[in-house]
Amino acid sequence: MRLPQTGGCQCGKVRYALTEEPQSVYTCHCTACQRWTSSAFSMGLVVPETAIRLSGVEPKRLQRVADSGRVNTRLVCPECGCWICGIPRDGLVRVRAGSLDDTSWLRPTRHLWTRSKQPWIIFAPSDEVFEAQPPT
Ligand SMILES: [Zn+2]
Ligand SMILES: [Zn+2]
Repeated sequence: MRLPQTGGCQCGKVRYALTEEPQSVYTCHCTACQRWTSSAFSMGLVVPETAIRLSGVEPKRLQRVADSGRVNTRLVCPECGCWICGIPRDGLVRVRAGSLDDTSWLRPTRHLWTRSKQPWIIFAPSDEVFEAQPPT
């Protein structure tokens, strides 16, 4: 993969650039992600907060209290509603992987909340699989 990697929302009003390789690429099979994406899972990547530069219009902040009690904040485009990323937590930002301009290099190797995964999904033996939220 080449750096920086660029991405953005569907309408192009929110854009971003990643200046570092992601620490991990993951799928999330929680029921909230299934509902948000209207799909079987969401795909995200983790970068240090210093490695993402947002540009364009100010994203809208949507909050939800997770099952763990933690408040999750999603940054979405105010125009097209596309979910771009979260706010930094422990110095890390989770970016919606499908919002990248080039998704061809993505290979998720961590799988979260697999207790609610669709039964037809099978993981590679070398991948890390977590029934719920991974520790740390
Ligand atoms: Zn947009
Ligand atoms: Zn999820």
